[in-house]
Amino acid sequence: ANLVYEYWVPGRVRVAVRLRPRNAEEMVADADFADCVELQPEFKRLKLRKNNWDSDTYEFDEVFTESASQKRVYEVVAKPVVESVLDGYNGTVMAYGQTGTGKTFTVGQLGEDDYSSRGIMVRSMEDILADLCPDTDSVTVSYLQLYMETIQDLLNPANDNIPIVEDPRSGDVSLPGATLVEIRDQQSFLELLRVGEAHRFAANTKLNTESSRSHAILMVHVKRSVLEGEVIAHSENDDASHLTKPSKPLVRKSKLVVVDLAGSERIHKSGSEGHTLEEAKSINLSLSALGKCINALAENSAHVPIRDSKLTRLLRDSFGGTARTSLIVTIGPSPRHRGETSSTILFGQRAM
Ligand code: ADP
Ligand code: MG
Repeated sequence: ANLVYEYWVPGRVRVAVRLRPRNAEEMVADADFADCVELQPEFKRLKLRKNNWDSDTYEFDEVFTESASQKRVYEVVAKPVVESVLDGYNGTVMAYGQTGTGKTFTVGQLGEDDYSSRGIMVRSMEDILADLCPDTDSVTVSYLQLYMETIQDLLNPANDNIPIVEDPRSGDVSLPGATLVEIRDQQSFLELLRVGEAHRFAANTKLNTESSRSHAILMVHVKRSVLEGEVIAHSENDDASHLTKPSKPLVRKSKLVVVDLAGSERIHKSGSEGHTLEEAKSINLSLSALGKCINALAENSAHVPIRDSKLTRLLRDSFGGTARTSLIVTIGPSPRHRGETSSTILFGQRAM
């Protein structure tokens, strides 16, 4: 974990790419063709094939091949963010990619059938619960869906239009009305994720849409009681004498946001009418706003266009500044999706 920390320049987004294995359909349909990418994890490099003799090479903070375990992906991509949340900073982990490339597998897998397949949400909560002191600390969770610029509460379907309120002074974001559930053990967290998923399915059926057209957002609020002395020791000019003073407990709040983004694929006009075209516009709006904000951070630009979409407004206090942000871009191996894979890779590259 220490090694991972060294790569983290404040304000910069850490970007990993993950290749999913060929699925049954691809094993047959693409049997005579090479994958559209070739990975060199030891050099953290990915080559995107242009034709039989030429390819473009890209570097990432981490490159996960199709055999990378969920455990390793968690440890590299999310664990440093979770650790800094436990230290009192905000943090964000996001999965970006075409539908079917492994976003939900990477962040949302519950691991009920196969324990080793637990994804980032589940593993993050395990680490948080293990670190908190149940007598003085607490962890509460909200689970939301952002669809067509509307925030819906996945823990209470009646809350289908939650406002975003930003504190003009601190920049802190709150979601009045969103259900907050205190989590005391891993079982109740898994149950909450299951309930959220069921509500998501029901809501999307009612709206006649698919979950790939919306963002799923898990917000984990950590409250810890810390001694004043510990807080002072965090500052630059720390003086050990403070530590010996009688200290009074303070409450330190931080939050972890895990986002399973909507599918990044361009929706072709031919296959989409009315409703779906509106959905496509809305997805493009939020993903491109997200891209612009991440680029602005990467370039240290003074103007981060956070107000352009609800997604970025929601993340306002969870990336940039002292927050740690990790982006995992997921890709598939099929040469038939080379175009989409290329645009996913470029999104990840621009974020660095
Ligand atoms: P997305 O959320 O991006 O649409 P999913 O996470 O649903 O994609 O993945 C699509 C399918 O591929 C699922 O059946 C999932 O279990 C499988 N899959 C994705 N990534 C991996 C992986 N790294 N290893 C094994 N199976 C995977
Ligand atoms: Mg998914």
